Amino acid sequence: MHRFYLREGTLYCEEQDLFELAAQYGTPLYVYSASTIRDNFRRLEAAFSPLNHLICYAVKANSNLSLLHSLAKLGSGFDIVSGGELYRVLQAGGQADRCVFAGVGKTRQEIQYAIEQGVYCFNVECEGELETINEIAGTLGKKAPIAIRINPDVDARTHRYISTGKTHNKFGIGLDRAGEIYSYAARLPNLQIRGIQTHIGSQVLSIQPFLEAIQKLLPFVKQLKEDSSIEFFSVGGGVGIVYAEALESGSPEWWQKTHPTPITFEEYAAELLPLLAPLGLKILFEPGRSIIGNAGVLITQVVQIKKNPAKRFVIVDSGMNDLIRPALYEAFHQVVPLKPTPPHPGDLADLVGPVCESGDFFLQDAKLPDLKPGDYLALMSAGAYGFVMSSHYNSRPLAAEVLVDGSRSFLIRERESWKDLIRAESALLAQFQ
Ligand SMILES: *Cc1c(COP(=O)(O)O)cnc(C)c1O
Repeated sequence: MHRFYLREGTLYCEEQDLFELAAQYGTPLYVYSASTIRDNFRRLEAAFSPLNHLICYAVKANSNLSLLHSLAKLGSGFDIVSGGELYRVLQAGGQADRCVFAGVGKTRQEIQYAIEQGVYCFNVECEGELETINEIAGTLGKKAPIAIRINPDVDARTHRYISTGKTHNKFGIGLDRAGEIYSYAARLPNLQIRGIQTHIGSQVLSIQPFLEAIQKLLPFVKQLKEDSSIEFFSVGGGVGIVYAEALESGSPEWWQKTHPTPITFEEYAAELLPLLAPLGLKILFEPGRSIIGNAGVLITQVVQIKKNPAKRFVIVDSGMNDLIRPALYEAFHQVVPLKPTPPHPGDLADLVGPVCESGDFFLQDAKLPDLKPGDYLALMSAGAYGFVMSSHYNSRPLAAEVLVDGSRSFLIRERESWKDLIRAESALLAQFQ
């Protein structure tokens, strides 16, 4: 469970009053709860303690160095999808031999870097990639560890942009071709077959798609263990989180209807353990959202209230460049004022950002209270796929990030300045003078 709560109408993160943090660091501001991250990680660890396993946190969900450092200290491995992510993990004190390298488009440069650093495994997506890894490993005089990502053709029942386990998605290789591609890998001299992997999608709310995928793969995994003496089976990530909830007793009931409660780690483990334990393999988990998602919020300040005959618009200083999930995935983030705010007697309102796009909104036709310019709001559960997807669109500097641990807070990313915006361009102006 996370550590954001209302105390007499004021929103806290652990022992830290968020209003004070917003005033100190300015907005837009991402704030993370260190205890929540630790709690999420340890609960997943505990749930799978009967198994030989490794949790490889999916770096793409949030790659801040200080957060990676704290996860490395907890013993986490890492699921990376680029050379840049491996670089970050190493800079943060993570170990390459606890990293799995996923992704459909690994470049030669990334593959070489990952082999040199000694990653635990490449999760491979097609024959061509096997050939490239084999060739690069050969020139380096090494054997590269590989697993094949299998696409189990199951419906994860999530938003179509984050569903990855159906045949029409670009990810993985169908079970019908799995045997053939493993035999091919076995014939390539500079590869070492180390495991098998699958990942069906993200924000998966029920257990059924996970069970379906694993059950479909099990016979093949058993066969592969005999034929190629693999070490591990990675069941990927994808466990969903709550995006709207009661922060204090008496909170509205509407959220429960529209936002079903996802499975817990404990339920997930209870269902998976009987299937996975008999395999006698090391089991890898690649959770991103379920570790960091509910551990972060985005704090924003109201800049303007605009009314037209049709609508009230509450305009804030964060936009789709800071948090793109509503625009990209039609995602919902619960909005909580940092201080008690009276209800608004009038119509429903839109909560929008300053970016010049009609898609730049956080809520539409929502029951927002009587907000005034200067008021602060928190967009809840913004820890995953939040800051990492931010951009400079509209020449907006990237937000600052703060980590709260108990009553202490640490700046973990400086707010960018206007100067930062032009850093890679300004010296190049000289060539036109
Ligand atoms: C994105 C991704 C994950 C993490 O997904 P979450 O939904 O954040 O848990 C894990 N494995 C792979 C291969 C991914 O692409």
